[in-house]
Amino acid sequence: MSHKVYLPADAGMIEYIGAVRGFTAELEKRKGSAPRVFVQTFGCQQNEADSERLAGTAVAMGYLLTDDPQFADLIIVNTCAVREHAEKRTLSIIGQYKHIKEKNPDLVIAVCGCMVGQAHRRDELKMRYPYVDITFPPGTIQIFPKMLAERLAGGRRSFAVPEECPEIVEEIPVHRESSYRAWVSVMYGCNNFCTYCIVPYVRGRERSRRPEAIEKEVLELIKSGARDITLLGQNVNSYGKNSEFDCSFAELLDRLACLEGDFKLHFMTSHPKDATRELIDVIAKRDKVAKQLHLPLQSGSDRILSAMNRHYTLEQYMGKLDYFREKLPDASVTSDIIVGFPGETEEDFEATLEALRRARYDRIFSFIYSPRKGTPAAEMDGQIPDDVKNERFSRLVALQNEISLEKNQALLGKALRVLCDGVSKNDPDMLEGRTEQDKIVIFKGDAAMTGQFVEIVVTRVETFNLYGEIKK
Ligand code: SF4
Repeated sequence: MSHKVYLPADAGMIEYIGAVRGFTAELEKRKGSAPRVFVQTFGCQQNEADSERLAGTAVAMGYLLTDDPQFADLIIVNTCAVREHAEKRTLSIIGQYKHIKEKNPDLVIAVCGCMVGQAHRRDELKMRYPYVDITFPPGTIQIFPKMLAERLAGGRRSFAVPEECPEIVEEIPVHRESSYRAWVSVMYGCNNFCTYCIVPYVRGRERSRRPEAIEKEVLELIKSGARDITLLGQNVNSYGKNSEFDCSFAELLDRLACLEGDFKLHFMTSHPKDATRELIDVIAKRDKVAKQLHLPLQSGSDRILSAMNRHYTLEQYMGKLDYFREKLPDASVTSDIIVGFPGETEEDFEATLEALRRARYDRIFSFIYSPRKGTPAAEMDGQIPDDVKNERFSRLVALQNEISLEKNQALLGKALRVLCDGVSKNDPDMLEGRTEQDKIVIFKGDAAMTGQFVEIVVTRVETFNLYGEIKK
């Protein structure tokens, strides 16, 4: 576990961190032990990255981290809004924290992330969850110390409203979960407004960090032993657009891949409409860029792609994929697919299956469409019944599992470089790690290899996992 904490550059934030430190010192004196913070994260990698900054900020404010909410004096719930079901689950978990607050009146409960970027959820927390003290939307961690300081000083509960374009604050304190795998956000927000997606409404418009700030963070990470660095953005291929600096994502990736050190760069997510040949050329040219591409197709039907507002056709998508495969024949390609979008006919769905046969992805992340309140698709005619969606989903998964297994079989006998993640989650006698193509490999070895690259010869494969032995 790394405990590195950077100092924030923003003077206002430093002032309020100092103010909260006064309260935590007083609490420590009164209780005889340092106050504790419990950070709970739902959703995507961007939220994981934000939570590392929330934890770092809390540590800078005088809290110690705890894995148990029962012992916390500050609970931060970082929420996701992509699915209604996940929101309901999150609300039910927040509901359970009421009992902790009854036992510990010093406890402050903060809720942040995409769910509280929506007005109806903020209202719900305000009215029906009186023990929730503060909420702040994604991309506004810098206001958290001020809100907390005011609440600790006896101020009213407060519920911050998202701005369309919140400013980017650099060098917010960070507490990284891993010392060798790291997330680096390169941009925030999204301008694409895919009709099924809530993200542009809750995360605001696209804003890109300056390349020199990103390079500084990546350099620090490499120096502190990071081996695998993932650059994050809702659509990294829009990086640099509408900015005062002139740097595309391909140029940024190229610049970072020229840094000294033994590390690999990954990135996500790439919108197919903005994926360029220039980007693919950088992946092919630079050893330090992982030979992998996540390129979400969503549907194989042009009619559905248009209804989703994706701004590409199947042929345009396949043209980019063909170029990628021509340049990087051994690289892995993964995708996202949504099944049962409103109006999807059997013919549209067959087109998606055909696209899978053609693309031969290593893996897909498949989702059954579920309406998101506040998005255009939720209001569309032709919502698909659950039984049809479920049946299509099963056929999609069955086809992809066959393809994934065949792709993995082609790796039998090959030696792959694997970044070891330690003891396997499924088998305590084995280790596991990931290849630069993001395939999970299970092998026998010494847990001291955690965080190191190891050469593994593949001896057996399954649909999702590879098994192997350390190369002699
Ligand atoms: S590109 Fe589309 S799916 Fe991705 S975050 Fe933006 S609106 Fe959502």
